[in-house]
Amino acid sequence: MEWLKERIVKEGVVLSDQVLKLDALLTHQVDPALIMEMGREFATRFKDRGVTKVITLESSGISVAFAVALELGVPMVFARRKKTLLADPDALCERVPSFTKGIVTDIMVSKQFLGENDRVLFIDDIIANGDAARGLIKIIERAGADLVGLGVVIEKSFQAGARTLREQDILVESLVTISSLEDGGVSFS
Ligand code: 5GP
Repeated sequence: MEWLKERIVKEGVVLSDQVLKLDALLTHQVDPALIMEMGREFATRFKDRGVTKVITLESSGISVAFAVALELGVPMVFARRKKTLLADPDALCERVPSFTKGIVTDIMVSKQFLGENDRVLFIDDIIANGDAARGLIKIIERAGADLVGLGVVIEKSFQAGARTLREQDILVESLVTISSLEDGGVSFS
């Protein structure tokens, strides 16, 4: 994944020992050619696993999840961040802490778009502590769907998210692993 590492080094901004700003290539502006390359890579890694649906969280997972779904020829569903207090009997909801915003948000997926016949590939941009992933995985389980695995563009391995999921026998595939953001630099492993 040298092409991706180069872009991260060139365009990412280390905000602290914990946070890498990726607005230039993932979380604000996206480069369609780069996103399609990611889509092809994830599709290759998961192509033999009978995926029926790709799922992600709004908003920064959407572009990559779309590219993967296009390559696999399946629909893509994104969990929405709930902005209404009205109860929807047709929705599966979970509360997740947001790593970057420092607040708790409610995410929801309509039962209409996720069910027990689905084999779901979960795609996300970055995994840190794994709270967002855990919330969406709970929704997938409550829908009765099978989780095929999680594909993340960037795994920050100095935070526990990906490791904890692997310990639960969930297949986690990351395109790039960052082992440290100390002293203003990005270290890959
Ligand atoms: P987690 O729930 O795994 O702690 O955090 C996952 C979410 O927080 C990701 O979907 C991503 O949007 C955001 N996030 C976590 N760490 C970073 C980071 O270093 N940079 C950016 N830009 N977003 C991050």
